[in-house]
Amino acid sequence: MPNVVIVGAGPTGATLALLLARRGIPVTLVEAARDFQRQFRGEGLMPSGLDALHQMGLDTLLETVPHRPLSAWEFWLSDRRLFRANEPLGSARPCTLVSQPPLLAALVQAAQTKPGFEWISGTGVKELLWDKQRVTGVSLTDGRTIEADLVVGADGRASLLRQKAELTLTTQPKSIDVLWFKLPAPPNYENDNRFCTVVKGGRVFSLFHGAEAGRLHLAWAISPDEPTEQKNWAATFAALVPPELVEHFWAVEDKISPPMRLSVMVGRCDRWHRPGLLLLGDAAHPMSPVRAQGINLALRDVIVATNHLVPAFQQADDSASAVIDCALARIQAEREPEIIQAQKLQAHEASRGEMLRRFGLLSQGLSAFSPVVGPLVKRVWTQQQQPLREGITPVRLEV
Ligand SMILES: Cc1cc2nc3c(=O)[nH]c(=O)nc-3n(C[C@H](O)[C@H](O)[C@H](O)COP(=O)(O)OP(=O)(O)OC[C@H]3O[C@@H](n4cnc5c(N)ncnc54)[C@H](O)[C@@H]3O)c2cc1C
Repeated sequence: MPNVVIVGAGPTGATLALLLARRGIPVTLVEAARDFQRQFRGEGLMPSGLDALHQMGLDTLLETVPHRPLSAWEFWLSDRRLFRANEPLGSARPCTLVSQPPLLAALVQAAQTKPGFEWISGTGVKELLWDKQRVTGVSLTDGRTIEADLVVGADGRASLLRQKAELTLTTQPKSIDVLWFKLPAPPNYENDNRFCTVVKGGRVFSLFHGAEAGRLHLAWAISPDEPTEQKNWAATFAALVPPELVEHFWAVEDKISPPMRLSVMVGRCDRWHRPGLLLLGDAAHPMSPVRAQGINLALRDVIVATNHLVPAFQQADDSASAVIDCALARIQAEREPEIIQAQKLQAHEASRGEMLRRFGLLSQGLSAFSPVVGPLVKRVWTQQQQPLREGITPVRLEV
């Protein structure tokens, strides 16, 4: 049986490794970090991502991982709520925050029970190995080399494999960075976890109770050239948050974590593959944080890749390389339309927030008439969320 090396144990690499190992394919999963306690960018799973985990047979595993459903989405303009839309907004499952470190650890642990699975962590991939025009394996930073019939680059948006294979990433102009804060959650968020987006004072930010018990997350959008100032964040937030939260922000003033600056990159490779190499997830198409798409789309990439790779690996004999390489183009062709559309919808969502932020009069007008316009805006917004929640093209695990 041909073998695969997967580089990167984020959501893409860890789920692909488990799915392939469960189907008897020899898999080596290489992760540069020693553990999963590193900087994570978001933990929101949409119904489409939860459905992908369900199709992968991971409902029981998910139950063992700290997670927390969202109760609603709220939009605040100045000090008035424009609308509240309750989850699950007509979907089968509510949008859910899932803690990534334990999820990834559980996925790798499950893969480790399968024969033919090898886990290498704390050592990154340094180079691709080539035989003429075909990738034939990887070399690691500790000097080891691993030969493979297929190398999968699941090494995230700064993908080294993408660079080594000279697969060009076309990026959208950089419009925001995010400052991420954590602080104690107010008690009324425990059971009513609304994702609040606030537009006020020329700022846009969101807050919600994360998967971890008792922690409120606050994502503060800034322009990429804006410095991370040292300021009295409690006072800044208290002046902007919905009135019901003002007292809380003062009460936890000294418990607000120092901000973590997360840069946002959005883009797409024209070509996701070379002979012997496939890019998936953020390595092929880094996603914006808007409406939590990246992990969800990565999980759907993995399902489609599994559908195409498993038969290719099972059929492959002397012509293994050619059969596998043919599958790679089909994977990109099946996934690309959804990625293009999701990135367009994310940009559209972001531009509406930006318009409200920049045009104070518009935002004030909507705020003043929120009892009248709120229900209408809510209806339109809810309808427009469906593709970003449910996925755009059908994705079914068939093997
Ligand atoms: C601010 C922000 C918030 C976000 N919030 C959400 C959200 O709520 N929901 C959502 O769905 N998406 C969200 N996203 C997007 C999401 O983070 C990514 O789309 C997702 O993590 C992609 O998963 P991945 O496995 O492809 O890559 P990654 O999660 O980046 O994983 C890549 C892995 O590869 C490893 N690696 C890198 N180089 C090497 C190497 N040379 N050798 C070995 N290993 C290597 C890394 O250590 C890492 O573990 C957010 C993004 C941003 C910027």
